[in-house]
Amino acid sequence: MINILDLSQEELKNWLQDNNEKAFRAEQVFNWIYKGQWDFKEMKNVNTSAIDKLTANFYIGIPKVLEKLYSKDGTIKLLIALSDGNVIETVIMKYKHGNSICVSTQVGCRMGCRFCASTLGGRIRDLTAGEILSQILLAEVIISGKISNVVLMGSGEPLDNFSNVIKFIELVNSPKGLNIGQRHITLSTCGLVPKIYELADKKLQITLAISLHASTDEKRKEMMPIANRYSINEILQACKYYTDKTNRRITFEYALVKGSNDTKEDAYKLCDLLKGTLSHVNLIPINEVTEREYQRSEDRAILEFYNILMSKGIETTIRREMGSDINAACGQLRRSYIDATR
Ligand code: SF4
Repeated sequence: MINILDLSQEELKNWLQDNNEKAFRAEQVFNWIYKGQWDFKEMKNVNTSAIDKLTANFYIGIPKVLEKLYSKDGTIKLLIALSDGNVIETVIMKYKHGNSICVSTQVGCRMGCRFCASTLGGRIRDLTAGEILSQILLAEVIISGKISNVVLMGSGEPLDNFSNVIKFIELVNSPKGLNIGQRHITLSTCGLVPKIYELADKKLQITLAISLHASTDEKRKEMMPIANRYSINEILQACKYYTDKTNRRITFEYALVKGSNDTKEDAYKLCDLLKGTLSHVNLIPINEVTEREYQRSEDRAILEFYNILMSKGIETTIRREMGSDINAACGQLRRSYIDATR
């Protein structure tokens, strides 16, 4: 059986034609799915023979909600089970400008970032394009509204699941699909340099976010094993290539960890690195993870860091802490679930 969400409308059209059904049924079927009807038999305007063929060959892979946590700030965190029983997390954030979703792209992650709970059990498997998409379809039903921004920043390294992630972006961006503009999609990577070049060559208009988190290779290596493979310099060169190809500004994510990367010296070094680049820094007051030793920076240190960057002309924001009362840090909820069901 095939998850129908892994198919584009064009692919389903071809399949229907190959199976002696009308191509326009594809649009009808996907319209139902996007409206939240996930049972082929209930698709009223689709003829019986097409429904029988679809039922015999496809399933609609919407995950099952295991847990739903509501934060005081409106953030909703979902713990969901995929069709094979693997569990992932999805976070829905409500902003004045619309609803955002942070989707997972892999079950677990093999990148080993030391501040992250998603990587504690390693990478189990990649998500398919349809499984990434299904998180949005589910979210829209849960909030009875539209998702307008997508962030690929949940569990998993998106560029470590390159072809599925590219297909997901195509599906979500398609006017026949959810029609979410590429500029409303942000892909966050820990810095897989060759894949950044490959992504740049696709010339998409998505925002690329780099999880930098340190201003020297030595400090970065302490936090992120990937820093042993690629230096900050190599990442910045790849980012320049991305900007040249797409004209898009890069976002640098910087999680502030108390006493580790949040000193004035770190801030000045970061300014030197980013001087003259088309970039934006997003400072993240870290969510503490029980299994990890990292602590959140003090407010005074966060503000000082911010002021230094701004004084050097580097556009900087401090990320609002969303859902900190509901274990919203990457992978925390899934981790608690795995521990509890062991
Ligand atoms: S921060 Fe992202 S890349 Fe790093 S281990 Fe966690 S999920 Fe993987």
